[in-house]
Amino acid sequence: MERVAKVIANSGFCSRRKAEELITLGKVKVNGEIVKELGLKVEPSDLITISDKPIKREEKEYYLLYKPSGVVTTTNDEKNRKTVIDLIDTDKRIYPVGRLDYDTTGALILTNDGELTNRLIHPSNMIDKVYIAKVEGIVTLKEAKILENGVVIDGFKTSKSKVKIRKIDKDKKTSIVEITIHEGKNHQVKKMFDSINHKVIKLKRESFSFLNVKNMNAGEYRKLTIKEVKKLYNEFDNK
Ligand code: URA
Repeated sequence: MERVAKVIANSGFCSRRKAEELITLGKVKVNGEIVKELGLKVEPSDLITISDKPIKREEKEYYLLYKPSGVVTTTNDEKNRKTVIDLIDTDKRIYPVGRLDYDTTGALILTNDGELTNRLIHPSNMIDKVYIAKVEGIVTLKEAKILENGVVIDGFKTSKSKVKIRKIDKDKKTSIVEITIHEGKNHQVKKMFDSINHKVIKLKRESFSFLNVKNMNAGEYRKLTIKEVKKLYNEFDNK
């Protein structure tokens, strides 16, 4: 659900302020009824008219990108570096849901659906995110347990996570560790490993909720299916 003035502005008809003026003047109808409330929210299926002419609502788009390394997760970089938006061929004003570091790869959702974005990034919604970290040193089971129980980073204790040691390279003294977290603090995974004295060398987000990039290559993206979008919305109804 989105405020009707915002939907009008997103359609490109006029600014949000102008849309509010039109609502106040009684020119806007939703499903044939004059809108009397500025804050009225509408569903994607509601018909909005201005002076009895339907507006063309911006279609929602949803992408799953396998973010490669060396790309910033923003819509516009002040240093003119390549952004995740540059990788997707669309004329819609999409933006990334959450953030992956410049050197982190993996699953990233991009959309112009503000409501879904808000839901997905809200910490109370506990979306599972699975990361595969290659770290310096041999991670022990004891250290894995410490991470699972939560560690303090930047004065904040991370909530319970799931940790699996996937591979140990005794010669190179590196470990590959899978960690599932729900939060999304800045550099969270790197800082969690820092707290147990294992520097992250490489980081990939294998999945975000039920969406994974296992069968994709870095830089590839695909549109989500309607079923997947519905399932993402349902993630919250089941919690
Ligand atoms: N945690 C990190 O440290 N970096 C990311 O990009 C994502 C999670």
